[in-house]
Amino acid sequence: MYDVIVVGAGPGGSALATWLAREGLDVLLLDKQVFPRDKTCGDGLTPGAVRILRGLGVSDSLSRRGYRVDGVSVTTPQGMRIETPIATDGHPGYVIRRIDLDEGLRNAAVGAGAEFIGDVRVTQVIEEEEKVIGAGRLGPLGWQGRVIALAVGANVGLLKPLGLLPARPDFAYAARSYVEGLRGLRHQILFRFDGVPLPGYGWLFPLSDNTANVGALLFGRARRTTYEVLQEFLRHAPIVEMVGDGQVMLPVKSYPLRTDFHKSRIRRSRLLLIGEAAGLVNPLSGEGIHYALESGVLAGESLRDCFDRGDFSEQALSQYERRLRARYQRVFVLASWMRRIYMRESLLDGLGRACARWPDLAQLLVDILLTRKDPLKVFGPKVVWRVLRSLRGPS
Ligand SMILES: Cc1cc2nc3c(=O)[nH]c(=O)nc-3n(C[C@H](O)[C@H](O)[C@H](O)COP(=O)(O)OP(=O)(O)OC[C@H]3O[C@@H](n4cnc5c(N)ncnc54)[C@H](O)[C@@H]3O)c2cc1C
Repeated sequence: MYDVIVVGAGPGGSALATWLAREGLDVLLLDKQVFPRDKTCGDGLTPGAVRILRGLGVSDSLSRRGYRVDGVSVTTPQGMRIETPIATDGHPGYVIRRIDLDEGLRNAAVGAGAEFIGDVRVTQVIEEEEKVIGAGRLGPLGWQGRVIALAVGANVGLLKPLGLLPARPDFAYAARSYVEGLRGLRHQILFRFDGVPLPGYGWLFPLSDNTANVGALLFGRARRTTYEVLQEFLRHAPIVEMVGDGQVMLPVKSYPLRTDFHKSRIRRSRLLLIGEAAGLVNPLSGEGIHYALESGVLAGESLRDCFDRGDFSEQALSQYERRLRARYQRVFVLASWMRRIYMRESLLDGLGRACARWPDLAQLLVDILLTRKDPLKVFGPKVVWRVLRSLRGPS
């Protein structure tokens, strides 16, 4: 009998396992993959994610394997470029391959005392007995824990039969490639709304002075696949110019992202959902690592309380959900609205012109994206007036 069984050793699951193991709890961390393993991702870390990673003791992987980023550049559908710094309180952003990041996190969990078993696909969760059943190379396996945390990302197969998936989950879809030999990269992440269909964007996240993770994301279903959209983005003139004689490394991979935290159940009885399994991917930016880490830490703090007091009542266990909702419910509702309203060509171009004229607006938008400012500010009279004034004509 373990204190906590964590299913999924991505950022959410490993953050939770590290936190609980450090507190002296008996933790089992399971994953269907053999580690180190890749995860299809843009590999971008915000300063908020970096702050939590440093707290979990993963600074070393960041400085050895990651590429520091201090700013963001956004290109509007008409090709206007806006640049803004992102670093905060001494924490820059980083771009780091997930094979390195997730291995660093898993090592932190094991170093803190969690037991890790890979190559085990959990196929069933028996709620009343707090039991997880899985299948590994040696056949069927089962474990019992006092609490079970599911941190299985966008793989919703386990959530459905448990009734923990909304009737109409919101998915975005994204494809990524690695491109070597790029020109013009700086310590900056690039978002581009030109060369891709809206609502969506293309990105270039640098992994070195001449290598980047290049991808395309689409919100909702589109007529074309994300793979086709990424090919088109790579043929877009400004990208062709950056790639020059560089090479797109194969394979190109795509994967869904779940963005419906604000309408999802995230707990029942002794079963908690962590990270993207709780729909925690920003509906505006597609960022999910920061939220996965933060939900892991919040679940850790809440569960430690339950174990300290030996109290597993509904009231005690719901602390996690209360804290997570207080932090992100409003952010997710407003970010969804923002995407629906602003992610169209004329408004993005208007926003671009307004940002060029009023740099504090560009900083506000970045702060909203990084959940440092309340998204409601973007619907305030000052912002709306500036965007309306900039809808037509030069800045
Ligand atoms: C193309 C793309 C680009 C992205 N770019 C970014 C970005 O640049 N920055 C950012 O912040 N976010 C990005 N995201 C989102 C980010 O990748 C996820 O939100 C984040 O990985 C979620 O972390 P997690 O720990 O919740 O889940 P995951 O990282 O998905 O980890 C889940 C783990 O659970 C395991 N698992 C799943 N099912 C089972 C099972 N049944 N049994 C056992 N183990 C299981 C998996 O093997 C996996 O290791 C991107 C997503 C995509 C698809």
